[in-house]
Amino acid sequence: MSNSTIYNIAIPVPLPGTFEYASPLPLKPGIRVSVTFARRRLTGVVISLCDDPVTPAAKLKPIDAILDAEPVFDQALLNLLIWASNYYFHPIGEVFSAALPSKIKHGGALEAATERLTLTELGIQMAKVGNLPRAPKQAQLLTRLQSSEPMSRADLTQAGYSAAVIRGLIQKNWACWRSVKDVPANDAPHHFKAAISLTEAQRQAIAAVELDQPMTYLLYGVTGSGKTEVYLRLIDQVLRTGKQALILVPEIALTPQTVDRFQDRFDCRVGALHSGMTAAERNRQWQAARSGGTKIIIGTRSAIFTPMASIGIIIVDEEHDTSYKQQDGFHYSARDLATVRAANEGIPVVLGSATPSLESIANAEAGKYQLLKLLDRANGAKRERYQMLPMPPNQSDPLPNQALFTEIRETLERGEQVLVMRNRRGYAPVLFCTECRWIAECQACDARLTVHRQQTGLKCHHCGASHPIPTHCPNCSHVTLTPVGDGTQRLETTFQTAFPDFPIVRIDSDNIKDRLSLDRALAKLQGGEPCILIGTQLIAKGHHFPLVTLAVVLDIDQGFLSADFKAVERTAQLIIQTGGRSGRDELAGKVYLSSRMPDLPGLNALIDQDYLTYAKQMLADRSRYELPPFAHHGLIRADAKTPGLADQLLQRVQRLVRAERQTEILGPTSPAMAKRAGWHRSQLLISASSRQARHKVLQQLQVALTQAAPRTIRWSIDVDPADFF
Ligand code: ADP
Ligand code: ZN
Ligand code: ZN
Repeated sequence: MSNSTIYNIAIPVPLPGTFEYASPLPLKPGIRVSVTFARRRLTGVVISLCDDPVTPAAKLKPIDAILDAEPVFDQALLNLLIWASNYYFHPIGEVFSAALPSKIKHGGALEAATERLTLTELGIQMAKVGNLPRAPKQAQLLTRLQSSEPMSRADLTQAGYSAAVIRGLIQKNWACWRSVKDVPANDAPHHFKAAISLTEAQRQAIAAVELDQPMTYLLYGVTGSGKTEVYLRLIDQVLRTGKQALILVPEIALTPQTVDRFQDRFDCRVGALHSGMTAAERNRQWQAARSGGTKIIIGTRSAIFTPMASIGIIIVDEEHDTSYKQQDGFHYSARDLATVRAANEGIPVVLGSATPSLESIANAEAGKYQLLKLLDRANGAKRERYQMLPMPPNQSDPLPNQALFTEIRETLERGEQVLVMRNRRGYAPVLFCTECRWIAECQACDARLTVHRQQTGLKCHHCGASHPIPTHCPNCSHVTLTPVGDGTQRLETTFQTAFPDFPIVRIDSDNIKDRLSLDRALAKLQGGEPCILIGTQLIAKGHHFPLVTLAVVLDIDQGFLSADFKAVERTAQLIIQTGGRSGRDELAGKVYLSSRMPDLPGLNALIDQDYLTYAKQMLADRSRYELPPFAHHGLIRADAKTPGLADQLLQRVQRLVRAERQTEILGPTSPAMAKRAGWHRSQLLISASSRQARHKVLQQLQVALTQAAPRTIRWSIDVDPADFF
């Protein structure tokens, strides 16, 4: 294949590295090509020119087809994807798969940058002097184009202009098609409704952000402090310079008001990207972002990979939320990639939260991020007050005492609303035999089965198994089975009995599946009548309930006793996020935390002072025990159907690793749930004082595992693991 150039191509196969192919034509990095791999036709992406090919010339295969004229990804985004593949030890081809809508991934055509019908200089003059063509439809379109943005073919069809009318204007040289990228920034006006006058704190935060600098800002704003308003104003400024904004949110399906709030304030198109969309809709939104047609894109985790014609800012709302970390397959953190992408693009990124992650706070303390603070609620409401509610140590259900019931009744009778957070769905977490102490457990997992009363059954929350509830104890045959403890379903019944005159609204993933069911549930609260809202952590996410004045968080102890060192941070965040739903308007808010250990050390910093003070205390503990963010973790997980196999494999590969300074390899150990969905699990924890050292060790482990692991064992590498489950 003389006259050919060799390129490194990323191919969607579970193998590390790129593959060499020859092309007679020059190829730009970032375009898609069709290649043959293991006798299959696959769509790959050109990464780079290959300087020193290792494939012998005789074995070199040609590229079968070039699919794009222009790169799908520009160089900055391409660099981000390569960086992510390297940092997270995930095959580059599969990184591209995760980043592309399925149609594009399988070779479907890119839309050219949206073409829009735009007036020429001549056309503008004609419209001004009123020298209109005699054809009335053409005259109408000329006037319309003068007063509106350039129109796409879709816009024109929708507005009823035929191809003949359009051709008429083009032939007179009064209008022409231009791709969006050619339209100078200021030709595309947007309108922003500055409905609210800013607080001083908001004004200062906005002024601190420099739009032409690559910088990470940590916006610490207590619940109700008006972080969204800060985002909106920054986006407005970015749009004025002709650039686009990317906003990441933890969840869209269940927080639809996020997109609405942005759409309400801007009269340009706000695009959304999330997993609840059809593939076709996702593809359409992705293309519109890429071509520059959509100025504001709001999306969940994977939206961080959206190509954008001219990105000007990235905002990560609720940056502490664990949904930004992908839990399986490609274990990336969209929050962390946002900071890398912003640096590549030379733009600012704002990470916002009322309860920032300890990593982000540590970065702010180290001067890597700039800390911006909104310490008061925007509407002048006071911070909610917290109080511990002791539970008797041997009480199995976390239900509050009589005094609390009285307080709930008084609150309801004043016409206010009450929120009860219990992070356990189902009816009861345990089915227990009072005669022989048998407990219902999952056959496939090391876990107890949860009793459910709606769609009755015993369910495993880990593998999805479900069984009918037995009438007799399978162990001793007595009719002595009792559900123990409270899930949200049981609490609903309990509160319904105690407060028959007030409606109860329950929100958890068993009864809230989509926007419709959520809207229906929230309608009661928004209607303003006194009621009790019971739910899992779903109710702590971003909702605004102006009439809730009393919040109760049931049983906070588990988080503080868990073996997972991140559980304390998560629980503190959940407490403050739930508490923050209370008293967001004129009415003062109160929060009760029920606990068997009301003297939990240090907790008073959280409830008497603020989250940031408590976070610094948690950071001091992390530092003392050399835990992240003061150490860098990597986790190797291996699972096998046969007990012991995964453990043996990890023992073997561990011995192959050359020691690195200040790096420890811990394990292999079993995770807290040693068996899940029939797989016996084992893991190795790598803890290093630097990212480089961790990287070297993981690299060796990756090579060793690729060579040594039989097909019967599945394994993965998780860099910066979010949990050790
Ligand atoms: P956060 O996201 O920080 O919890 P939000 O952005 O949801 O807070 O704002 C909380 C409430 O305060 C919203 O109802 C919002 O309209 C209102 N708000 C925001 N900024 C201001 C302001 N400058 N003046 C008055 N109200 C404001
Ligand atoms: Zn029994
Ligand atoms: Zn199970």
